[in-house]
Amino acid sequence: MSDSDAPSVRLATDSVVDATVEVSDSRMTELGGVTIRRALPQRSRRTVGAWCFVDHMGPATVTPNRGLDIGPHPHIGLQTVTWLLAGEVLHRDSVGSEQVIRPGQLNLMTAGHGVSHAEEATSYAGELQGAQLWVAQPTATRHDGADFEHHASLPQVELDAGVASVLVGDFAGASSPARRDTDHVGVDLDLHGGESPIPLEPSFEYAVVVMDGEVAIDGGHIQPGVLAYLGLGRAELLLRATTSSRALLIGGVPFPEPILMWWNYVARDREEVSQAHAEWTSGSERFGQVASSLPRIGVGPPPWTAHPAEEHQR
Ligand code: MN
Repeated sequence: MSDSDAPSVRLATDSVVDATVEVSDSRMTELGGVTIRRALPQRSRRTVGAWCFVDHMGPATVTPNRGLDIGPHPHIGLQTVTWLLAGEVLHRDSVGSEQVIRPGQLNLMTAGHGVSHAEEATSYAGELQGAQLWVAQPTATRHDGADFEHHASLPQVELDAGVASVLVGDFAGASSPARRDTDHVGVDLDLHGGESPIPLEPSFEYAVVVMDGEVAIDGGHIQPGVLAYLGLGRAELLLRATTSSRALLIGGVPFPEPILMWWNYVARDREEVSQAHAEWTSGSERFGQVASSLPRIGVGPPPWTAHPAEEHQR
């Protein structure tokens, strides 16, 4: 759900800071009439643990003919985590998956060396809202084959102020069955209002993205449209929902490998990205085939190859 543009983003290893509340605005884009708030990457904050991309889409009113319809496009070196608050999306990919996702369910696609997928509208008409996040794969697994998992239900934890669903990783004694290649966690917080102590792992850095309502953390009021980075070293977070709210809590051990992210690729250097993009553009078997009637998505070459003469002149 991220293919409306092709940002050129150089990712270095971020500076890691102790417990803080650092609030950065999301970047707004539009895709098929659906508003997308891109909370990560930020210029000053490229990763939170292995999480390297967070799109909050909607809420929007969609019909079978108007809404998200993203044709086949490639990925390498990342996992896509799809989570809906409302609506339906049909996932198809080059490992042969065809899976409708609905609220409360998790789609987790692992790209490894290369995968392609499409995200299509269904016969559903009504409100669509959700999130797509990317997790950078470590070098230990990023050259492996592609994989897809659908989890129809996830473990839940009762909180004082609501319910937590554990998308990925371990939270408050509950473990998600989803594949995890690094030490990271993703939790949906469905809060009816009031205060909850949220147990955290001090060796993880964390961030909160509010999708609906408002939460207060350390006196700061966090609403949709921002990334609230919380730093490292917290064993607990006192989170207060000032109204009925929905938020994502993401975290993990700071990602130790500097990554290069361009378009739909997470790599380590320009050569890897250029190679992957040349193979996607030429229709190489690396990215397989997706059984979708939507057109394949293509973009021009990476900026460092588009105008080689200009690059030499600088
Ligand atoms: Mn995608």
